[in-house]
Amino acid sequence: MTPFEHRRAGRVSDAVVWLRETPDAKLLAGGQSLLAAMKLGLAAPPLLIDLGRVPELLVLREEGAGLWIGAMCTHASVAASPLVRARWPGLARLAAGIADQQVRNRGTLGGSVSNADPAACWPAGLLACGATLVTDRREIAANDFFRGLFTTALEPDEVLLGARVPAPTPLVYLKEEQPASRFALTGVAIARGADGVRVALTGLGHGPCRWPEAEAALTRRFAPEALAGLALDPQQAAGDLHASAEYRVHLAGVLARRTLQQLLSHP
Ligand SMILES: Cc1cc2nc3c(=O)[nH]c(=O)nc-3n(C[C@H](O)[C@H](O)[C@H](O)COP(=O)(O)OP(=O)(O)OC[C@H]3O[C@@H](n4cnc5c(N)ncnc54)[C@H](O)[C@@H]3O)c2cc1C
Repeated sequence: MTPFEHRRAGRVSDAVVWLRETPDAKLLAGGQSLLAAMKLGLAAPPLLIDLGRVPELLVLREEGAGLWIGAMCTHASVAASPLVRARWPGLARLAAGIADQQVRNRGTLGGSVSNADPAACWPAGLLACGATLVTDRREIAANDFFRGLFTTALEPDEVLLGARVPAPTPLVYLKEEQPASRFALTGVAIARGADGVRVALTGLGHGPCRWPEAEAALTRRFAPEALAGLALDPQQAAGDLHASAEYRVHLAGVLARRTLQQLLSHP
């Protein structure tokens, strides 16, 4: 691995200053993606800015009727939170289904959404519940945050502070797992709120996205029959050694029906 400097930030402002001072510096959350990329030679940042001891990024709390999840909250801490389990159980289950206990203990909400892996679970959940991503300088609707494969709206020197999740709405996320990692071969999240139904997809290969046709159909009629005949175009997916594009879009349809059934039986 190329030599690099490691610095611990005590405040978000330290991280912002250091990112500006050192081109190609990287923020370090739990290291679950970044360190692996460095070991493979896919990234060689001269400086790692460790966010592990920035207290404000570790906050998980109710915020009015909604929920604030700090960027450095681990998947395990969200999954175990009595608040999230009681009021946002769909998100608690999503977090509990990520990877294995070791990865959940280190991997963070902020690292997951900033990395924007096309098979990650959080992006689908946040898109479906209409969350807002908050940075050191602005608020970005989840819809505008994810820009495709490993791409987000974040500027190179921008620090994600956390996610603001609206008041609870019934939400279910289901995925067909890639058995070695538990990343989503395809994953579907459906949420039914006062402002309509949101259907979000992950794992198709081009980055997380909404499924507008399914949303329109379910807004007209919130029943499995509404999804009959709806299918994504395989062009909207990508194939790899785990699954073809055709298989992924087929799974999206199957999972959407299952997700809806679960939502109807255990809202
Ligand atoms: C074996 C394995 C299995 C996995 N299975 C799943 C799965 O089933 N589902 C799933 O969703 N995920 C899965 N993951 C991903 C994992 O859960 C982590 O969320 C992901 O790897 C990011 O890791 P991290 O939080 O440690 O961030 P890091 O690796 O530390 O950082 C990732 C990227 O985000 C940037 N970053 C981090 N924090 C911030 C911030 N606050 N502001 C701006 N940029 C930031 C970093 O600079 C880096 O570019 C798996 C990972 C592994 C290794």
